[in-house]
Amino acid sequence: MQRYIPHDITVFASLQELRIKWADNHISIYKYGGLRNNCPCVFCQGGHGAMGKPMDPIKYLADTPDRLKLNKVKPSGNYALHLFWSDGHSTGIYRWEYLRDGCPVEAGIIPFYEPEDKENHTG
Ligand SMILES: [Zn+2]
Repeated sequence: MQRYIPHDITVFASLQELRIKWADNHISIYKYGGLRNNCPCVFCQGGHGAMGKPMDPIKYLADTPDRLKLNKVKPSGNYALHLFWSDGHSTGIYRWEYLRDGCPVEAGIIPFYEPEDKENHTG
């Protein structure tokens, strides 16, 4: 399905956000704080029994801590995105379905806006 195929993944470090342009041309904006609060790993979800919940777009309204940075963003196979945080946390593997279905722009939580400049393009 087009909506779950990422075409372009960009990190805007100064805005503390990750953007994904999908094959259906929708652009998702994910603030670092919301991404981190939605980390799907077993530690952040509170154990194996709590795994598999959908992403919560409301969490993108939370403030992003100033010092939180994304050090690296790496596709994991062809099904997910692996995020490496500046505090060393790197066990979060975000499936494309998880990201797209929890898109805060699509949910109407964050209005879409054009970034002022492009930076740290990761392909
Ligand atoms: Zn985690």
